[in-house]
Amino acid sequence: MSPPLSARLTVDTAALVRNWRVFRDAGGAAECGAAIKADGYGLGAAEAALALVAAGCRDLFVAHWAEAAALPTLPGDVRVAVLHGACADEMPAALASRAVPVLVSPAQVRAWRETGRACDVMVDTGLNRLGLSADDALSGLLDGLQIDTLHSHLACAEDATHPLNQTQRARFATLAKQIPARRCSLANSGGVGLGADFHFDLTRIGIGLYGGGVAPDGTRLSAVARISARVLQLRDVPAGDSVGYGATFVARRPTRLAVVALGYADGYARSLSNSGSARIGGSVAPVAGRVAMDLTAFDITDAPPVAEGDWLDIEFDLAATARAAGRSEYELLTGLGHRYARIYR
Ligand SMILES: *Cc1c(COP(=O)(O)O)cnc(C)c1O
Repeated sequence: MSPPLSARLTVDTAALVRNWRVFRDAGGAAECGAAIKADGYGLGAAEAALALVAAGCRDLFVAHWAEAAALPTLPGDVRVAVLHGACADEMPAALASRAVPVLVSPAQVRAWRETGRACDVMVDTGLNRLGLSADDALSGLLDGLQIDTLHSHLACAEDATHPLNQTQRARFATLAKQIPARRCSLANSGGVGLGADFHFDLTRIGIGLYGGGVAPDGTRLSAVARISARVLQLRDVPAGDSVGYGATFVARRPTRLAVVALGYADGYARSLSNSGSARIGGSVAPVAGRVAMDLTAFDITDAPPVAEGDWLDIEFDLAATARAAGRSEYELLTGLGHRYARIYR
């Protein structure tokens, strides 16, 4: 047995599947694919893949070939697509893989065309990140390429009123008519709620699966990740004493602290200093002072009793924690680090 860890990440795979069904149902006739890049947004790509595939998901997206190679064996009808495409020195790995590249540049297209194999293609419609320009895509470059899925990616999907959404949709629809592909795919999590004309044949859902953002109808999604950490020491601080590095918290009254084995090395952002919290029973215990690398103190003066060795539930509501930390929900999840005992249920 490996030595115990003092922080726990609990991943509710049933909640993950519930969230996937919300997007699948909202996407109408479109198939519902899952982005499990960056180790399933920090929560475990293998576990996410197995749960989603068991629920009926047949399209998985990773960013790197190494991420595709690290997945467990999946049923033969599951498609894994690599969003970065295949660079020249990745061709051997790509050809040895069951996954397919999402080709993103003219050079990638020219190299892949030689293989005669099927692929996906990304076209840029306004994000100006990866993807072929419309001119390149319509230049004859794609002639003879066997395209399974034609993709584009939205820049502002989480802002339904942003005019770039309709611009990108219109550009993509025009390209989709002219480029032969089995399927077309535009919407990420935020894109599904923009309306049926954003759904095309396949959606690529990421953050929403893991409980971030909102459901397509604006309601809340199920929380997937919970974190808890062990209380290493209780300490009573007299009024006027400071707490932690930089002495940024000064006790206004006799204060009881729980010093917990969780820090910014665990993705508990330093910007949660004096702004994060833990939940003890029904009460809230705010962070007192700076979050350090391995340790954070919580003010439990008004909370029900806690003992050394207890596990504290750390507030990790994604929207609230992102706000408190000044980070995106994506950063909170993908930054969680490697010191958690990971529990899947
Ligand atoms: C990461 C990613 C997604 C998933 O986006 P979410 O906003 O997390 O739903 C979809 N498509 C592409 C191309 C991506 O890179």
